[in-house]
Amino acid sequence: MSDDGDESDAQSLGITKRKEYETGEWYAEVVQKADLADYAPMGGFIVVKPRGYALWEQVQENLDSWFKATGVENAYFPMMIPESYLERESDIVEGFDPEVAWVTHGGHEELEERLAVRPTSESIITPYMAEWTRSHRDLPLRLNQWCSVVRWEATDTKPFFRTKEFLWQEGHTAHESEADAWEETMTRLEQYNRLYEDVLAMPTTLGRKPDHDKFPGGETTTTVEALMPDGKSLQAGTSHYLGTGFAEAYDLTYRDEDEEEQVCHTTSWGLSWRALGGLIMTHSDDQGLVLPPTVAPEQVVIVPIWQEDTREEVLEYCEQLHAELDADGVRVVLDDRDERNPGFKFNEWELKGTPVRIEVGPNEVDDEEITLVHRPDGETETAAREDLTDATEDALDTVYAKLYADAEANLEENVREAHGRGEILGTLGQHGGYVKTGWCGEEACETEIKDQIAAEIVMLPLEEDTDPVHETCGVCGEDATETAFFAKNY
Ligand code: AMP
Repeated sequence: MSDDGDESDAQSLGITKRKEYETGEWYAEVVQKADLADYAPMGGFIVVKPRGYALWEQVQENLDSWFKATGVENAYFPMMIPESYLERESDIVEGFDPEVAWVTHGGHEELEERLAVRPTSESIITPYMAEWTRSHRDLPLRLNQWCSVVRWEATDTKPFFRTKEFLWQEGHTAHESEADAWEETMTRLEQYNRLYEDVLAMPTTLGRKPDHDKFPGGETTTTVEALMPDGKSLQAGTSHYLGTGFAEAYDLTYRDEDEEEQVCHTTSWGLSWRALGGLIMTHSDDQGLVLPPTVAPEQVVIVPIWQEDTREEVLEYCEQLHAELDADGVRVVLDDRDERNPGFKFNEWELKGTPVRIEVGPNEVDDEEITLVHRPDGETETAAREDLTDATEDALDTVYAKLYADAEANLEENVREAHGRGEILGTLGQHGGYVKTGWCGEEACETEIKDQIAAEIVMLPLEEDTDPVHETCGVCGEDATETAFFAKNY
């Protein structure tokens, strides 16, 4: 086996930045070197490579099946929206105006009416929902589309976390009553939560946005927030109860059982590839990408370790392991490349985030054993050859549990109470994470903190807060009506 060039290749492949000290640069390096995405020629846009897209497909497959099992149908609407359609709901125009990309020409002709590249699709979907809804028998109406949207973000962009064009799903539903629409809003929020908890190994906190930060034109925005290891909160998915405002603007009404005309209550909910940003940031390390087995393109890599005289028997043993795991439904690869040595292969699969490595040398063959190595912490275990599938599946479960536990510990250790400007700013500055404090409900109190330390109220408790954490507002000292969670965010 040739060692030529392996060392210098390994160095150029490897991650050079440290997660703890240069988080932004480290993140960009992991995304590129693990072959997930690249920068596009236009600032703020990215190219998603096959390994990155495979992760998005896992997100899609899971969410899509849960949506369908709960009454949602997929549809597709145009990516361009006539300006007059957007204008029918004035809050949405105002809210999204600074971020809308406009199409003004078709070929050489100036268009009679500007077309917005959708920043979100309420204004093109709701009018059609109105056409398709006649009576209470047509409700609930639940549509979803998988598509990209464009928002000309003013703040810094970062692959997956915040891009000008991003892939997402947007669900749009109509209901007879406020209670039904609220149930829908929460069903979707809980499905987002399930995605993070059960698929991406990320514990999340559910909450509600303050009124000044809710979806333009909506009544209530609920949010799934994930705390990143650098102490910043990630708005990881949102589900909006829109009340009757959109239905009124687009004539979405129905005849009830008494043939009376009623206005629908609507919801919308969206989760984007930002989820992948959260996933990468949460679990990965200075060796590269770390993935939970649930989404890893390859869950297991088998690396043979041989000398010339043992090559044949080691490879044969590995091929059998590969065939058996593959037949049992494990996503497994055998790295039998001749031109690379085992050390190089270890590094490369670590960089790619493969959760479990099975090492096989002559000793394993002689003893009828396998050696399993866990990606997150390098823990090594030995198992009997005959227990191959069980031992591998246990190792994959253990890796998932380790990733989840680490993220959970980060969350648990980083929720702190503070009261008074100095204490709030000091706690946020020193530790990051969430700072819980009493809040009077005035945006001005948030602005005061934001101006000093770029932290904001990322959520309020999901249920109306009858018992705030402090009797008075942590910023102005007036009576508190809510508990606010301040954090820096992405
Ligand atoms: P919204 O329609 O604004 O509630 O957005 C739905 C979800 O999309 C948010 O909760 C974010 O997680 C995500 N998102 C919003 N803006 C961006 C962006 N520029 N890039 C990636 N994801 C985004």
